[in-house]
Amino acid sequence: MLTQNPLDQERKMSESRKKLRWFVALSTLPLLGVVTAFGLVPQNELDLTSLKAAIQEIALPEDAEKQATAASFWRNERVQRGDTVVELLRRLNIEDAVASDYLRKADEAGSFRKLAVGKEVHAETNAAGGLISLRYLGENATQVIIEKQGDDFTSRALPAQLEKRLFVRTGEIQTTLYAATDAAGLPDAAANKLNELFSGDIDFHHDLRKGDKFTVVYEMIYSNGTLLSAGRIQAAEFINQGRAYRAVYFQKDEQHGDYYTPEGNSVRKAFLRSPLEYSRVSSGFTNSRFHPVLNKWRAHRGVDFAAPTGTRVKATADGMVASFGRENGYGNVIKINHQGRYSTVYGHLSRFAKGLHRGQRVLQGEVIGYVGMTGLASGPHLHYEFKVDGRQHNPMRVALPDATPVDDADRVAFQSVADDLVTRLNLLRNTNLARLD
Ligand SMILES: [Zn+2]
Repeated sequence: MLTQNPLDQERKMSESRKKLRWFVALSTLPLLGVVTAFGLVPQNELDLTSLKAAIQEIALPEDAEKQATAASFWRNERVQRGDTVVELLRRLNIEDAVASDYLRKADEAGSFRKLAVGKEVHAETNAAGGLISLRYLGENATQVIIEKQGDDFTSRALPAQLEKRLFVRTGEIQTTLYAATDAAGLPDAAANKLNELFSGDIDFHHDLRKGDKFTVVYEMIYSNGTLLSAGRIQAAEFINQGRAYRAVYFQKDEQHGDYYTPEGNSVRKAFLRSPLEYSRVSSGFTNSRFHPVLNKWRAHRGVDFAAPTGTRVKATADGMVASFGRENGYGNVIKINHQGRYSTVYGHLSRFAKGLHRGQRVLQGEVIGYVGMTGLASGPHLHYEFKVDGRQHNPMRVALPDATPVDDADRVAFQSVADDLVTRLNLLRNTNLARLD
């Protein structure tokens, strides 16, 4: 799961229940959706010619069948920085003193206590929060299974048999994006990513139309039949008001992967449209407006985003802190220089991010300060300016430059990955049409 937000916990829980039901539903009602199991890793060796024939229902692993009928719940959580056994169990909804004791003290459960930050743990509990079984990837490519046996627990390690399965789902918008991704059975992580991938081109609040369509190729990693992680999108297409947008994932080395159009341009913009996650424009860009504090008409060459004091303010693009401090009208203000001709300004801040300094390199999305109402402000809001060659432009309207495209050196490798993924998107689209006839 990508999200660790506590607000998502409840949703995740019901999601995981729903998912089990969904797997079962698929086996009996194949027409509900087209699910393609492409087989195992490595994906580049997949035989595309057999793809059409491979359209099939997901074979239920034996385990899953058991899971679906027993009165038990599966939950998964990632280990977080500073986690304790008790804290992790709490997030997994485990209320079981015997299990807690075993996991904290038993020698056999030592690998559990050594789990690194970011590792995923899957737990099966009964309705009362009692632990039935726990699974995670241990050291030396093993999968550890801890299970209730009578009144106690046992632990065993199997050689991990990792499988990467690629799935394709398609959906059509009826109301909202998330209603459609839910109906299509897309995991939460993939749905969020789909939203993020195309949000530079499509405003999902205003531009979405009934009948818009999406196709998503994403991976699920299984070990010995247990789902370990869900969701990375390999390729996606979104057709909005008749116009198709596509993104493919390309990993140029171990550390660096990103999304590009099939032509190799970045799908990310060099700038975020807004420096705040959730906000509304309270005062737009204009050459003349009535100023609420000064009580007179004057130009407003920026955009005001209303948000509560303390809301995190993010750098809208990679850049370098040119200055920060207190200025008359702006109050606490940060100025950032970006590549080439661009710079941005963030005003009325309540405070700056810890350790912020002049000349500091910041990344797109990095928190640089917090919303406030210092300077000439009638209420808490962020004043944001977007400058090209030192002159303000309307950040909500200006054509934003794209982030860096694929390096020339990686072109050949990229093209083969992209072509393969695009073929998959096309195949599914055609197969879908055929099935609907
Ligand atoms: Zn303003």
